[in-house]
Amino acid sequence: MSITTVGIIGAGTMGNGIAQTCAVAGLHVVMVDISDAAVARGMGTIANSLERLLKKEKISAADRDAALARIHGSTNYDDLKAAQLVIEAATENHELKVKILKQVDALLAPEVIIASNTSSISITQLAAATSRPDRFIGMHFFNPVPMMALVEIIRGLQTSDATHEAVQAMALQLGKTPITVKNSPGFVVNRILVPMINEAFFVLAEGLATPEDIDAGMKLGCNHPIGPLALADMIGLDVCLAVMEVYLREFGDSKYRPCPLLKEMVAAGRLGRKTGRGVYSY
Ligand code: NAD
Repeated sequence: MSITTVGIIGAGTMGNGIAQTCAVAGLHVVMVDISDAAVARGMGTIANSLERLLKKEKISAADRDAALARIHGSTNYDDLKAAQLVIEAATENHELKVKILKQVDALLAPEVIIASNTSSISITQLAAATSRPDRFIGMHFFNPVPMMALVEIIRGLQTSDATHEAVQAMALQLGKTPITVKNSPGFVVNRILVPMINEAFFVLAEGLATPEDIDAGMKLGCNHPIGPLALADMIGLDVCLAVMEVYLREFGDSKYRPCPLLKEMVAAGRLGRKTGRGVYSY
């Protein structure tokens, strides 16, 4: 089955980014959210993003108009019936995702593939909530979706080879580079990234170097575009802590213990850029 229309559930940060990327690649998109306001916000973000690409001469005015015309924003799940692939990108909440998945599973034709963009919930577990676990898979895009080249494709225990191949081809069609990962907490990128950030907090807590020197060390010594502490401020210290707590619980391995300094800063409300202060002040 060739994929010409993609359904997207959630018009937030990731949903509207995925919608834009699909539409620019020539696919028709149905993007659903729970309220007209959320759909309008998502559509507005896409229009602004395409406008910026036009100003930078990355796309033409005709391409922008064509991409926008291919996106249908809606609050009606029935509109998802037009899609051959549905990507769930709603709020990160296990119960909510199971509820949404059961609802669309009942609605969609049996051959339709359902993917989830979850960052932390087990793909195997989400697949088991549907009647089509072999046609369920993880598609983990990175933020901002139109700019970031990677898609982690996560195979649940039940995911079929055909589903994997179809989604891999689809990621390539979007101009992304897919990597395939077995279902496991944090998949590949966050599994390596977040413990590295946690280790940077240990280095800071031990007084081995200043925050500036820790970040300069990783930028200049490893060619990272941003140091781990500045990156923690961007991601949110609370998010980094929550991820470490998931790894500690799921793997039961003390190597994932969150750094006490990270916990202390979260307890103080120093969550990073979003609160004006984290490791650095903004
Ligand atoms: P967000 O809060 O920006 O957007 C979530 C959207 O889902 C909201 O617009 C909300 O109204 C909508 N929603 C809630 N319930 C819904 C329902 N029943 N039906 C349809 N829409 C519903 O969140 P986000 O950052 O876009 O994250 C979405 C998913 O992507 C999460 O699973 C998250 O873990 C994952 N993710 C996020 C990032 C990131 O950097 N933000 C990166 C990779 C993956």
